[in-house]
Amino acid sequence: MKNINIKKGYTQVFDVESRLEKAISSKEVALTPSRIPFIKPKLLVKKGDLLKIGSPVFFDKRNPEIKFLSPAGGVVKNIVFGERRVIKKILIVIEKEEYEQFESINHDKISKTDRADLVKHIINGGLWPLFRELPYRDYPNKDKIPPQIIVNLNSPEPEGPSPSVYLENEENNFFAGLEILNKLSDKTFIISDASDEVPDQIDKLITHKVAGNYPANDPGTFLYHIKKNIPENSSWYIFGQDLIMIAKLVLSGKYPTDKVVTVSGSMNKDDNLHYRVRVGAPLNDLVKHTYDDFKIIQGGVFRGYDTSDTPYSGYFENSFNLLKKEGEDALFGFVMPGFKKNTVSKTFFSFLNTGTREIECSLNGEERACVNCGTCSKFCPVDMFPNITYKAVYADEVEEAIFSGLLDCVECGVCSFVCPSKIELAKDLKNAKSEYYKEQV
Ligand code: SF4
Ligand code: SF4
Repeated sequence: MKNINIKKGYTQVFDVESRLEKAISSKEVALTPSRIPFIKPKLLVKKGDLLKIGSPVFFDKRNPEIKFLSPAGGVVKNIVFGERRVIKKILIVIEKEEYEQFESINHDKISKTDRADLVKHIINGGLWPLFRELPYRDYPNKDKIPPQIIVNLNSPEPEGPSPSVYLENEENNFFAGLEILNKLSDKTFIISDASDEVPDQIDKLITHKVAGNYPANDPGTFLYHIKKNIPENSSWYIFGQDLIMIAKLVLSGKYPTDKVVTVSGSMNKDDNLHYRVRVGAPLNDLVKHTYDDFKIIQGGVFRGYDTSDTPYSGYFENSFNLLKKEGEDALFGFVMPGFKKNTVSKTFFSFLNTGTREIECSLNGEERACVNCGTCSKFCPVDMFPNITYKAVYADEVEEAIFSGLLDCVECGVCSFVCPSKIELAKDLKNAKSEYYKEQV
């Protein structure tokens, strides 16, 4: 077992108790295809259709065998389209909970099963997209053998589900998952946050303990610090909880419907806790209290997205943060000391304050120009100069952007957060990376 210490990055943690609240039962679920990166969804259902758990709901036009399945049995109540007929939401009201039955494989037969058969099981069961391929983070080509698969026991977000919670009573499924991975690649790394406790039997299998600031637990950050050659840039990764879902599918032939998520944030009136919920559950089931001045950010404080228009839990995300909405700018806010405002560049006097600081969605003013302060590069976990790459992207100098590390960017959002001018570096770098990828494929 090796230790990796990530010295850069930035940590702003909402402590989440290692306590699982009782399972939340929902009356409806929604699938939100527009939030799944890169896919081009095509519907397989219409309003009024009766679905079982595991019935196909839509597929990816780029690769029609990749289908996304229903996490509930019930009726398609509504399909909501956005601009240019983007499918925003497929709403299913839960009624009769029957399962589609897929083929299953006994645990002791996994090692004797052909790779192609196992892959077919996972694809037919709708969970292949839980595997992601670096550096672009699309789901991988099934026929490719990856140089290695990184199993990350932690969520990349510090406030995401803890393995000490979701691994409880799931050890055998996790071991079955590792056997599946052995059929997909010759090399598997299991990484875990150095500060987290995991069951002894699994702890023994961990290859790397990672310590340091966010995004120390991002598979891309880990890869950046251990990779030895260019082919390793295309490593695959999967999160521990997702591996358990794949193992359950393969062992039982049934589509797994639920997962453990966390709710936290500076505007959370309840304790910051873990919850077991249905995939696609309404966020109202998780956040009972109501008031107007918060947003639920799904997928992490630094790089998550606002769920206001479609408040349902996504296919991948498993942490939800309640943060203060951006309000109106305070009168003469620019001359106020800002003792509670977050700053790393000493723009506000909060650097003198060791107490609580606000995390909110405000940009504290209008769009401002880069002042070449270098703060973004001091915090970038993969040693980029985000301002330089950003300028190359804006000048349409793709080669220069790639040369300055665009493909190493782990899309963590730290550069945007620490930038005193609040330039959306991370968003624009991520978009540039995606565009480059689309051109390649
Ligand atoms: S450039 Fe990319 S990796 Fe570096 S801080 Fe910004 S988003 Fe994170
Ligand atoms: S932190 Fe912002 S203002 Fe400073 S160099 Fe980076 S982009 Fe420019």
